[in-house]
Amino acid sequence: MLDDRILTFAPDVQRRLTQTIRQWFAPEDRILQTVRTNTVAHGLPEIQIRPEEGQMLQFLAAIIGARRILEIGTLAGYSGIWLARGLPPGGRLVTLELDPRHAQIARQHFALAGVSDRVEIVEGDAAASLERLGQGEPFDMVFIDANKEANSDYLAWSLAHVRPGGLITAHNAFREGHLHDDNPTANATRAFLEALATHAGLFSTVIPVGDGLAAALVK
Ligand code: SAH
Ligand code: MG
Repeated sequence: MLDDRILTFAPDVQRRLTQTIRQWFAPEDRILQTVRTNTVAHGLPEIQIRPEEGQMLQFLAAIIGARRILEIGTLAGYSGIWLARGLPPGGRLVTLELDPRHAQIARQHFALAGVSDRVEIVEGDAAASLERLGQGEPFDMVFIDANKEANSDYLAWSLAHVRPGGLITAHNAFREGHLHDDNPTANATRAFLEALATHAGLFSTVIPVGDGLAAALVK
């Protein structure tokens, strides 16, 4: 019989496994820890990616030799720091953020992490920013982690602006366990995943790390 469980270990076992993976493969330095505590101190939601998700993004970026990465949804810059740290010399991260306050805090965090020289924050609605960015060079990788209702639009843009051999990734594929609820974000996430799974030009999967990292290789 097919085993259809996903990480259904006892909670204490699960916690210990996660801690071990974090400690060995995705340890946070003081800067990443500070970014997380600052995020709470500023009253921003604690919805940044987990360390092992950040490390997985770095791993994926390294596999394809990503030099130009686009992030949609900056928040306080936590995921952006993971992505920026994975870039080779001369590499660039462009990150889109709607909320000026989030952008300002992220700017401070990128400075703290010493990555300001390779990170550009673009403020405003991602839809408008993408239209402008579409005129520029293609990207090697996109990480989508903003308003889930727009994921299909972000996918359409990415299909036109990520080079062959590049990656389209997205956070919260599992919606913290609520993927099959009936609400606009869950419905949009399912539609997005189905589009990834069925698009003939993509080789897609969901990596079951953290809240689920959707990843699609552009053929
Ligand atoms: N990637 C971040 C978390 C992002 S949270 C991390 O893991 O550290 C989602 C962010 O998307 C929020 O900061 C929110 O303000 C932003 N956002 C929401 N709608 C947006 C839109 N239409 N355009 C750009 N950013 C948006
Ligand atoms: Mg997220």
